[in-house]
Amino acid sequence: MSDPLPSFKESRLAGNSAKNTNVINRLFWSLGGPLETSIFVLEDAANPEGPREPYFRQTTGGTSWHPISQESLTEPRVSSVSVSILPLSDCEEGWRCNHEHADRDDPNCVYEPFRGRTILARCCGENRPKNLAPLEVQALHTPYVTIHDYVTTLHPVLMGLRQNALSILGMWEGGSLPEETKLVVEVDPLMANKLWIKEEHEWIQDIRTRQEPPKTWRDSVDGPPPAPPYYPPYLPQIN
Ligand SMILES: [Zn+2]
Repeated sequence: MSDPLPSFKESRLAGNSAKNTNVINRLFWSLGGPLETSIFVLEDAANPEGPREPYFRQTTGGTSWHPISQESLTEPRVSSVSVSILPLSDCEEGWRCNHEHADRDDPNCVYEPFRGRTILARCCGENRPKNLAPLEVQALHTPYVTIHDYVTTLHPVLMGLRQNALSILGMWEGGSLPEETKLVVEVDPLMANKLWIKEEHEWIQDIRTRQEPPKTWRDSVDGPPPAPPYYPPYLPQIN
């Protein structure tokens, strides 16, 4: 029997970082309902508004999942991966920046002890959010984590976090985003140990921006840089 596969973290520590196989980034993964109606497979990952097929298939012969569901999540293959959910996994820092106006003399600001000092616990009527611990995805039916293991494990948990995501995404605009906001999941383009919950329009915009050619001075609002001084070529005088 062959040795069990390493976890994502072990593969990384061994200097053999597991990268996404390119299929995971072809998912159009919305957070609006059950798995069966929320995921589609894009023909082209670079075209989020282009043709797509349902991940869940229902025909007269029965139901099945899209064939990419059985593909490995990463190469080299891994037996598990622990996934950070952004911005939920690093929201404390952002919240503290958003409440820099807090004042120890203000009775509406509550501080609590933390590792020998005190930190802000409540401000503007909000409790400080806690960073979400990474979520663990295990290989379920094969020695390696498949696309299906990843989405079936994470989708229901992410749906349960929808409300938190709406309030954290709306934090900079002074309140929670409306309930009907369309949210999607975007897996990091290289490493499946990190994903973002985003508004759908923002996700589409981000994919488009990544494909734009690098900016040059032509795009600058200040206009082109001043032209270098002109020195006429030296022409020897011939008389
Ligand atoms: Zn505040």
